[in-house]
Amino acid sequence: MEKGQIVEIRIEDMTEDGAGIGKYEGYPLFVKDTVPGDFVRAQVIKDKGNYGFGRVMEIIEPSPDRVEPICPISRPCGGCQLQAMSYGAQLAFKQKRVTSALTRIGGQPADRVLPIIGMDEPVRYRNKAEYPVRMSRDGRIVMGFYAGHTHSVIECEDCIIGQQSDMKILSLIRGWMERYGIAPYDEESGRGLVRHVMIRTSHARGEQMVTLVINGKRLPHQTELAAELGFVSSLSYSINTEKNNVIMGREVRFISGRPYIEDEIGGIVYRISPQSFYQVNPLQTEKLYRKALEYAQLSGGETVWDLYCGIGTISLFLAQKARKVYGVEIIPAAIDNARENAAANGIANAEFFVGKAEEVLPGHFAHTGERADVIVVDPPRKGCDETLLRTIVEMAPERVVYVSCDPATLARDVKILADGGYELRAAQPVDMFAQTVHVEVVTLITRDKIETTR
Ligand code: SAH
Repeated sequence: MEKGQIVEIRIEDMTEDGAGIGKYEGYPLFVKDTVPGDFVRAQVIKDKGNYGFGRVMEIIEPSPDRVEPICPISRPCGGCQLQAMSYGAQLAFKQKRVTSALTRIGGQPADRVLPIIGMDEPVRYRNKAEYPVRMSRDGRIVMGFYAGHTHSVIECEDCIIGQQSDMKILSLIRGWMERYGIAPYDEESGRGLVRHVMIRTSHARGEQMVTLVINGKRLPHQTELAAELGFVSSLSYSINTEKNNVIMGREVRFISGRPYIEDEIGGIVYRISPQSFYQVNPLQTEKLYRKALEYAQLSGGETVWDLYCGIGTISLFLAQKARKVYGVEIIPAAIDNARENAAANGIANAEFFVGKAEEVLPGHFAHTGERADVIVVDPPRKGCDETLLRTIVEMAPERVVYVSCDPATLARDVKILADGGYELRAAQPVDMFAQTVHVEVVTLITRDKIETTR
């Protein structure tokens, strides 16, 4: 295989980030924008010795799983890596990703993985988007998405996994910027004001929250902006003057409306601040939380920890059925929301701590010696800190409910818990991120094994 060479190959598999894998004379060739089953003509663009990267030139014979992407810009945008695959094939791909991680990395039996819970309508589900704002080469203000792994921005006309109503907000903000000469951010020079527009919509209430992320300490013509966006429930700006890839700045200042929006899941009302994490797919979130609650098997007398609790969503779900729930979360604004949410829903048996899960839990255990019956963890993609997992093993709860958005780190952590005497009982994948490669899993891990050998 040589750079520039043109090859014809059958795509047989797919990488975790959605690139097709074919073989040329026994060597794997990774080809983006292909689907397993496709027979393609591709050009080798990188030769790495025993594998290579190719660019697709022609789909000679399409895979039976290939479909026409719904969105015209899905290929350059790269946010939806799987749009050219039928939804059934997307679900099968995710099922396989979860099973393969849990068996290969986690050393668990494949039969513990249950069939994935898919969406009925795999579009228009995202309740939040962060649109970068930039100046195009021809001097227009562009709001949209980063192209693939680059930082050039593609105009978003209407994102099919997002909310159509965002488009009106973006266009009003663009008009306001043009009218008052407010410049979009320029990454190279570090100049310009408006970096991102974050829009969040509550599914249950239809409320909209808009936060402009700005490269400056103050936002000019706020009153005029508030007048344009009079219909949104919460309008704010966030200050981020750093030259970095982080979107939101630390400080948020409110312009009009309330400092939060409200949503409702499973009969509980949640307040969400701009800085707080909140699951992006409301319909699937309810299914996920119900599974987590089922796995927790609460009968009313339990002490439960909800680690990485965000605004306390899972905590409050569990609190209705437990004696006491402790929640831990690193973002102070999210814990403010969690406490308000507990109060607003009349839930008195939930207590929240700001801090790192891997510090708060070991600290609390060392200090009080109090055990837990159930521990729920829902970490970001990098998974749990090993100190935390060791403390969990020491505290010996009957059940650990691990909610994960990354099968590989889940599998790594399951292995650590398994070495500590726990056993994976069930892993339920849930499709929270249709059209993309991402997948959520909720698992039940118990220490029954220890008890039966005692
Ligand atoms: N369970 C919540 C949030 C899950 S997202 C929900 O379903 O909505 C993961 C959360 O972990 C985020 O809110 C993030 O701010 C928080 N987080 C990240 N690192 C953390 C750490 N080391 N300790 C505690 N919380 C952390």
